Amino acid sequence: MSPAFVDTHAHLTDARFAADRDAALARARAAGVVRILEIADEPDAWDRALALCRERPQELRCSLGLHPYHVDRFSEELAEDLVRRAKLPEVAAAGEFGLDYARCPIPPEAQRRVLPKLLEAAGATGLPVVLHCRDAYADLFDILRAVYGGRRPRGRYHGVLHCFSAGAAEAETAVRLGFAIGVDGPVTYPKNDALRGGVRAAGLASVVLETDSPYLPPQSRRGQRNEPQSIPEIADAVAAVFGRTLAEIAAVTTENARELFGFAGI
Ligand SMILES: [Zn+2]
Ligand SMILES: [Zn+2]
Repeated sequence: MSPAFVDTHAHLTDARFAADRDAALARARAAGVVRILEIADEPDAWDRALALCRERPQELRCSLGLHPYHVDRFSEELAEDLVRRAKLPEVAAAGEFGLDYARCPIPPEAQRRVLPKLLEAAGATGLPVVLHCRDAYADLFDILRAVYGGRRPRGRYHGVLHCFSAGAAEAETAVRLGFAIGVDGPVTYPKNDALRGGVRAAGLASVVLETDSPYLPPQSRRGQRNEPQSIPEIADAVAAVFGRTLAEIAAVTTENARELFGFAGI
């Protein structure tokens, strides 16, 4: 049997997929990607993501969130709307939420003020949470300790620290705080030994695969739009990190994704 993969983070309603989304999904399937978690990162994208999931119930689930780039749109009504929609069968997670100190125009203080409120709303949904972090790990971990300290996750994890982009110390802290890590294209970059060290430190039991399409292409697609079909290339790099076969990486990461997001039927 050929390996079955999950892409736990993609933005397929992005305009860059408008012309060939069906073809991209067909390529993903041909590459063994059997389930994709579509991330709707602001309220205008929520309906688009839900509609796409309804068209393709076998392949897609979605996560409803508010990316740090959009936290100026936060309101109590938005949080209530999130909790209400979380009950829909298409919705498997809440997020992405997080902190982005790299290029985000929203000031860090404003991001730090809103994130705990979003995590409380996510807690009320009972869904796992998808976290985004760029250049803000120390502050993110402080907020996670304050929100989740002493709280036991429903399964093994509260959620996933998506697009993990740090080293061993951060990976160990994330896992200790009850988060899996999402591993993307940059793990395939020849110079990225620090990230591979982080992935190794997290341990395979805490790794899920993701593409973040259309962003973060792996080495073979650098400079191009990324697609879910890149997952086996990312899995190959993860296999090298752990000294395991591609089939073993597929089996363990798919099981991790199933456990995290409650995916049935894969
Ligand atoms: Zn992100
Ligand atoms: Zn994303």
